Amino acid sequence: MSDSRYDVVIIGGGPAGLTAGLYTSRAKLKTLLIERMIMGGQVMTTTKVENYPGFPGGIDGPDLMMRFQEHCQEFGLEVDYGEVEGLRQEGGEKVLTLEEKEIRAGAVIITTGAEPRKLGVAGEQEFTGRGVSYCATCDGAFFREQTVAIVGGGDTAVEEALFLTRFASKVYLIHRRDELRATRVLQDRAFANEKIEVLWNSRIKRVEGDASGVKAIELENTASGETRPLELHGIFVAIGVTPKAHFLADILDLDDDGHILTDAECRTSMPGVFAAGDVRKKILKQIATAVGDGAVAAIMAEKYLDDLGEQDIP
Ligand code: NAP
Repeated sequence: MSDSRYDVVIIGGGPAGLTAGLYTSRAKLKTLLIERMIMGGQVMTTTKVENYPGFPGGIDGPDLMMRFQEHCQEFGLEVDYGEVEGLRQEGGEKVLTLEEKEIRAGAVIITTGAEPRKLGVAGEQEFTGRGVSYCATCDGAFFREQTVAIVGGGDTAVEEALFLTRFASKVYLIHRRDELRATRVLQDRAFANEKIEVLWNSRIKRVEGDASGVKAIELENTASGETRPLELHGIFVAIGVTPKAHFLADILDLDDDGHILTDAECRTSMPGVFAAGDVRKKILKQIATAVGDGAVAAIMAEKYLDDLGEQDIP
């Protein structure tokens, strides 16, 4: 087991983590960012980001995140890959446990983000990757000239429905209520698109198919309880996300949905541990707010380390 010591360790490489890394590296704090799989977080699955300032006309999610990474590299942010499984306080230090090593830090910033929520219906798990997907940007092109459905009524669902019209011949938008949660501008675009049909007051009860993949769903009317079959080949689920903080459940204070509870300065219930971005409980989850969080968490981590240093002076 190898041990390493950093001033700051950031867990998660999305917009919040990369912003925190930019700030702490630029402040000359020895910083390591640990990413589990792919740098860039949820933005990597976004086609076009239209509401992040500075990019008139929008920018593709992966392009934006590549710029974030390049910017961090300018200041020497270290990056490593692996899954953090535990966090404990030992003396004045935080100790992060990964599969084969431990990493020590003066301060920790958690920016692990969130993952797609599941429908929890029969057939969903069985057909995941064979017709059921949680990322239209990643998988939409597999459904050229086919009928697909997207589940959800928020910005993600409507944005992805519009994206899917580039490939699919027909896109059902399945929403459990009779009005969408998505912003007006997106709703108007969806209503104006002749490939999109909204199925109001509807939910998927079961996903059906065979060895070749999804063939149909059983659709339930949430108002009347009536069910009917609907033939299609692809189902995209966009019903929100679950924060990725399970590994911290016994260590930090979380809310009932699993978000890390913080104060306005991103401090968690453990001194020296900060949380930023979608993993923390907050009202608005956007790239712009994740970036703001990352900056706040970085500055507070720097202040925490400075204060510790002052206490050490005899
Ligand atoms: P969201 O706003 O939480 O919407 C989730 C949708 O899924 C809601 O319509 C909800 O229905 C539905 N839903 C939840 N659980 C369900 C279930 N078990 N079965 C069926 N439907 C279910 O999530 P989101 O669309 O991913 O957006 C998350 C945040 O990111 C929002 O703040 C959003 O504005 C932001 N975002 C912004 C953009 C953009 O600005 N370009 C793009 C994507 C996301 P109800 O409405 O009935 O609750």
